[in-house]
Formats: sequence, C-alpha cells, structure tokens
Amino acid sequence: MELEYNCPLCNGLITIREKCPECGGPMEDWGRVQDYVDPYQPYLDMNITASEKHDEGRCVHLFLCPRCGRDIRITVNQIPGP
Ligand SMILES: [Zn+2]
Ligand SMILES: [Zn+2]
Repeated sequence: MELEYNCPLCNGLITIREKCPECGGPMEDWGRVQDYVDPYQPYLDMNITASEKHDEGRCVHLFLCPRCGRDIRITVNQIPGP
C-alpha cells in the first residue's frame, strides 16, 4: 500500500500569508498550480514543467497579487494522510 499524502494548505490545515515581492501587498492563494494547467485558463501565461505537475509529496500553489498581478509559486510539503 502506498502512503497517501495530503497538502495541508489544500485541506485548510494551514494558512500561508505571502507578501508581494513587487508592491508588498498581501497575495492571494489561488490553489494548486496543476489546477491551472488548463487550456481554458489562457490568461495565466505560465510555464509549468512536468515536475511541478507530478511532484510526489509536494503541492505547488499559485499565489497572485490582486494589486499588481504578480504571481509566484509556493511549494508546500505534503503530510501523510490518515
Ligand atoms: Zn495544496
Ligand atoms: Zn503586487
């Protein structure tokens, strides 16, 4: 049996507050980057590598600044599930 890993950020167990590197404003968690690997989201022009999509034990979240539109990625270490 494989251990299941869960992202504590996806599951609401933790909150990450990031400051925008451009303007210093609070950034919003837009969820997992892999959720945006989607042709219907063409306005997010991101180069997402295969390793980011299939990174075992990690969850990469997209944080977006609502003020200036800067986006960054935060890698969250997943925790073993129940
Ligand atoms: Zn996550
Ligand atoms: Zn900003």
